[in-house]
Amino acid sequence: MSKWRGKILTYNNAKTPKGEKYGYGSFVMFGAPHKLSGHNACAGSSAGCRELCIFYAGMGIFPNVQQARINRTVMYFEEREKFLQLVNRDIKSAIKWSKKNDLIPCFRLDGTTDIGIAKHFVKVITSLRNLCPQTTIEVLTPDFYKKKNAKKIM
Ligand code: SF4
Repeated sequence: MSKWRGKILTYNNAKTPKGEKYGYGSFVMFGAPHKLSGHNACAGSSAGCRELCIFYAGMGIFPNVQQARINRTVMYFEEREKFLQLVNRDIKSAIKWSKKNDLIPCFRLDGTTDIGIAKHFVKVITSLRNLCPQTTIEVLTPDFYKKKNAKKIM
């Protein structure tokens, strides 16, 4: 099957072949953790998690991949509207592509960051539910860490 490409989300990641085997497509936003982008993308991080962070694993060993992740994170902080529009466009395109390839799309918006795209979860989930009711939405409990009322809002 032809591989999907987005502006912000990526498809070709370590979870892709595993997910496809079970009928799922995994779309991830990989950004730059902690202060690598010049902005703090992991306010609740610890020295330990930063040391073990998967940012440098897999494709993350390549400087061009690291730079693309940094650029996305800078865009999130400095051009929020543009970033969210591109994410939205990617999600719609990913859903369409998944349907064509008989896959259930899965989205992970804080792949190697903790910027709290969770803040936008409610909007994203509502929009996803409308666009594609069978979409699997993974909400990790650490995403709620230090985010006041996040659990209640969800
Ligand atoms: S992405 Fe997660 S594991 Fe990596 S530094 Fe940020 S909070 Fe820690």
